[in-house]
Amino acid sequence: MWQRHDVGRRVHVRTLFDENRNEHDRAEQLNEMLSRATVTLAMPQGRPFLTISAPSAATLIERVSTASAVSLASAVARYGFSRLRVCAADPCRDAFIDTSKKGARRFCGNRCASRWHVATFRQRKKKDNHAK
Ligand SMILES: [Zn+2]
Repeated sequence: MWQRHDVGRRVHVRTLFDENRNEHDRAEQLNEMLSRATVTLAMPQGRPFLTISAPSAATLIERVSTASAVSLASAVARYGFSRLRVCAADPCRDAFIDTSKKGARRFCGNRCASRWHVATFRQRKKKDNHAK
C-alpha cells in the first residue's frame, strides 16, 4: 500500500528531470539517493559480479527508489543530465531518457510525437483559414 512518504519519494525522483535545475543540485540529489545503496562484490561460480541494491531491511518503495537512482546515475554518466527529459506533448508529462544518437528527442514515444504533430498541423491550418 502506498503511503504519504512514498508519494514524496516519487516527486523526489521526478525533480531529477527538471531541466530548470542546475546539474550540480541534481547530482547532489542523485548522490543522496545513491548513498542508501549497498554495493557488494559477489563471486558466483568464481566470477566477480558487482551488485548494487537497497539495504535488506528496505521497504519496497525504497528498493524501487534505489533501483531508479542507480539506473538514472548510469544514464547520466553515459549521456549527461541534458538527456533526462519530460515529454513535450500536452497533456503528457512523462519523463524519459533520450538515448538517441542526435539527442534531440522531445517526446516520450511515437504516439505523443504523432499527436503533437497532428495538433500543430491543425492549429496552423486553422490559422491559415482565419487569415484568408
Ligand atoms: Zn508523452
